[in-house]
Amino acid sequence: MATQAVVVLGGGISGLSCAYYLQKFCRHLTAFQKIIVLESSSHLGGWLKTCELDDGVKHELGPRTLRSATNQGYNALTLAEDIGLTDEILATTSKSNVVKKRFILVDNELVALPTKLIDLFRKRKPFSKRLISYVIKDLKTPKLDLSQYEDDISVYDFAEYRVGSEVANYFFDPLCRGITAGNSKKLSIMSLFPQLLRAEQESGSFIMGSVLNTSRDSTQMYASPLVNKAMANHWSTYTFRGGLQALPNRLCDHMLSLKGSPIEIYNNSTVNTIKFNETSKSSVITITTPEDNNIEIEAQHIFSSLPAYSLAKVLPKDYSDLSEALNAIKTVNMAVVNLEFKGKVMADDSGFGFLVPSCEDSKILGIVFDSCVTPEFNAGHDITRLTVMIGGEWFEEILGDVDTVDEQTVLNIALESVRLYLKIDSKPIRHIVTINRNCIPQYHLGHQQRIQRIDELTKKYSMNMTLIGASYQGFSVPDCIYNSKLAAESYSNAIKGVTSQPQPEPSLERNQLKQ
Ligand SMILES: Cc1cc2nc3c(=O)[nH]c(=O)nc-3n(C[C@H](O)[C@H](O)[C@H](O)COP(=O)(O)OP(=O)(O)OC[C@H]3O[C@@H](n4cnc5c(N)ncnc54)[C@H](O)[C@@H]3O)c2cc1C
Repeated sequence: MATQAVVVLGGGISGLSCAYYLQKFCRHLTAFQKIIVLESSSHLGGWLKTCELDDGVKHELGPRTLRSATNQGYNALTLAEDIGLTDEILATTSKSNVVKKRFILVDNELVALPTKLIDLFRKRKPFSKRLISYVIKDLKTPKLDLSQYEDDISVYDFAEYRVGSEVANYFFDPLCRGITAGNSKKLSIMSLFPQLLRAEQESGSFIMGSVLNTSRDSTQMYASPLVNKAMANHWSTYTFRGGLQALPNRLCDHMLSLKGSPIEIYNNSTVNTIKFNETSKSSVITITTPEDNNIEIEAQHIFSSLPAYSLAKVLPKDYSDLSEALNAIKTVNMAVVNLEFKGKVMADDSGFGFLVPSCEDSKILGIVFDSCVTPEFNAGHDITRLTVMIGGEWFEEILGDVDTVDEQTVLNIALESVRLYLKIDSKPIRHIVTINRNCIPQYHLGHQQRIQRIDELTKKYSMNMTLIGASYQGFSVPDCIYNSKLAAESYSNAIKGVTSQPQPEPSLERNQLKQ
């Protein structure tokens, strides 16, 4: 494969959406001939994995819903619309019970999180004061002087400073565990919730600042019928009839079916080494196929969506400072247990699920009430589906070494938690235990400085490589898609000077996925 190409490393949602946007933004340019996607596993979509059983029941093994009401969420909706997924969307509105009923575990009991305005004037477990007192504290507390914190502060410390330790322990801490499976005392507010810090720095109160930001109109950026519908109907989250796997599947189908498509997608193709030629500004990527063939691909530009630690492994040895900087971005392991019970073992309107604050004596991070969130995935069967999340930052403490973890132990913890917290004593009719290694990057304190260092080093080596993917600037699926879009757009702008004959917009035609 000696042809000049732009090569995308990794066939997760970041890599696939990057290829999609490159094709979209660069289709009139002749600066390169091909966009090649290289994925090591047989599966395309990375962590997006929907398991559909023989009887049509679906279980999500990775992410289960995407947030809608953010710029990144609207962008992902626009992508879904562009690739023909509009009619496949299953949305949850902000008025539904799934959104309104969310719980935290306090003293082994589920306690509902406040959702109504009236809740502000009530004193509710586990808080010792009426919630309005915490709002007043935030309004009265002077804004943070970030220079005192070496320009970064943990989510926990930020919350404790602004609204006190109770809200930090029972709201921000479980939120961090739910989103990142991480420790709120280690995670950076600047990297994980930049909008909260920005709101605080701009308005002196993160609550006031967030309210002001929410009222700003984002429709102009994504004026599409689907986004308009999402806004008009107050969509909070969404998935697809085929599960989230439908997104990478349709993306691949769409990209490969464009007539004269410049995109080639190779799964079962592990990137082993990358050699950069600083003078010619090109690189040679060596991949290994299942037949143990080593193939070299010349790339005029690389978009790496590999997790930072994976990229570190394939860089040349003399780039050890860059590998070290990439390895400084830590990840956590997580066990996910999908359970299926016969009959209705919980009410249909039980809500989204619950999260467990780290101050509670529990082995789990939380449980999602899948049958309530996506009843469609029960496929008409009289069953209840739940997912138990275990581990994250506490994986080794609870389950031991990830290489030797015993699946039965994981299952037992899940079943014991379901019995204890949800009073479900029956045995599941089916279960799936998945051990996800290095699945969620942790944006620990100093994450932005690490990103800056990585950026400086890629410049120092004049690398023809752009870094995208969950390791860096946002790891939710919509964040990943949005960052891939920005990267492709910026590359397209950079090479515009090289452009020559305009090319027609590709039309639809079937093509095969390359193996
Ligand atoms: C259990 C779980 C639940 C989650 N829940 C949600 C949720 O509800 N909502 C949400 O928005 N987000 C959620 N997330 C986060 C989100 O799913 C991920 O952050 C996102 O999918 C990451 O996409 P990515 O393409 O950047 O990385 P990945 O999905 O990790 O893709 C990288 C790809 O690179 C490949 N690769 C690695 N090394 C090589 C190599 N040497 N050569 C070739 N290929 C290689 C990998 O096989 C992989 O396919 C969840 C994540 C997990 C794990």
